[in-house]
Amino acid sequence: MKITGAWLTNAATQALCAAVQAGRFRIFFVGGCVRNALLGEAVGDLDLATDALPDQVMQLAEAAGFKAIPTGIDHGTVTVLAKGVSHEITTFRRDVQTDGRHAAVAYSTDIAQDAARRDFTMNALYADPSGNVVDPLGGLPDLLARRLRFVGDPALRIREDYLRILRFFRFSATYGDPALGVEADALAACAQLADGIDTLSRERIGAEMRKLLSARDPAPALASMAAAGILRHILTGADPRCLAALVHLEGDLPSRWQRRLVVLGGQDWGDALRLSRAEQALMMRLRDQIGTSLSPAALGWKLGIDAGADAVLARAALLESPLPRLWQKDVARGAESRFPVTAADLMPLWNGPALGAKLAQLESLWLASDLRLSRHELLA
Ligand code: ATP
Ligand code: MG
Repeated sequence: MKITGAWLTNAATQALCAAVQAGRFRIFFVGGCVRNALLGEAVGDLDLATDALPDQVMQLAEAAGFKAIPTGIDHGTVTVLAKGVSHEITTFRRDVQTDGRHAAVAYSTDIAQDAARRDFTMNALYADPSGNVVDPLGGLPDLLARRLRFVGDPALRIREDYLRILRFFRFSATYGDPALGVEADALAACAQLADGIDTLSRERIGAEMRKLLSARDPAPALASMAAAGILRHILTGADPRCLAALVHLEGDLPSRWQRRLVVLGGQDWGDALRLSRAEQALMMRLRDQIGTSLSPAALGWKLGIDAGADAVLARAALLESPLPRLWQKDVARGAESRFPVTAADLMPLWNGPALGAKLAQLESLWLASDLRLSRHELLA
């Protein structure tokens, strides 16, 4: 089996691999790039694995004229920038000790040992610089069947790193065959060990949840997580009941985690998922506007085109109501509109607190008119 792609044949990437090989080392692409290339999906970041030690990688890359940064040197990772493309190169490793969050690792020269510490068989696939797939654990048939399987015993692997519970649901939502469902043993292990999630940092949980919520259809995964008692460790009060309706209403629209999260609900998103201040503020405004009766155009004006569309879709999903006719056009019209009255129009007749109240009153009128009243009509 052979893969190809512009990311693989890219001259700078090939030159970097050649530089490592010239030092008599082996280097392979691994993880997401190989998996996605095999599935015919877009390739994001480039992860590579090698038997060269991190300082050897640094030396060889720099001698070939590339910028090498020891980004994760204590776990063996060097980031090499080659013609603007970032390559994360990690020395083959084996775990010597794990505590559920961190692993003490030792370097290895054995690709099979490196594969054995990866999470899922579909993530333990490698490709050499020519694109020949190397499959130390027999993960290729799993990938082609879109079957998500832990490498080794699920319970053992989860005890090593509880984030794998979340990754299990994320990867099954993104790459699993929905008709296959999730594997019963793995699901049981995730449910049994769910308490371990409480030991993880909220940053790691938040990063995984964004990716899960961005999957094409995260509804079945989140429903299983709720049923298995896992979701409550992630987000208190979350209820995935309306998510399937949301995904249905979205049709082919690009997925947005914010929209899925507002429908999932729950308390303290900011803390639970470590949202940035700006993200948290937008989520609150989104949630508040869903509860109003504002028209799609008014939502577009209040929230902008993306969050305005989120509000229309989320409201329809939560209320189990159909989408308003031509709602996308209306949200876009609202996002481009400007409230036609300014304070200067009302002064000096109105001033002080009364001016603010008058402006607010006119704004409500304008919103209620679906943004159709003109400046002239509003001032009349
Ligand atoms: P994507 O980047 O599209 O989210 P990915 O598979 O590249 O998917 P990363 O999080 O970038 O995922 O990790 C790269 C690889 O490192 C994975 O494919 C997997 O082999 C391994 N890996 C990452 N996190 C873990 C983990 N918690 N436990 C075991 N292996 C992991
Ligand atoms: Mg990756």
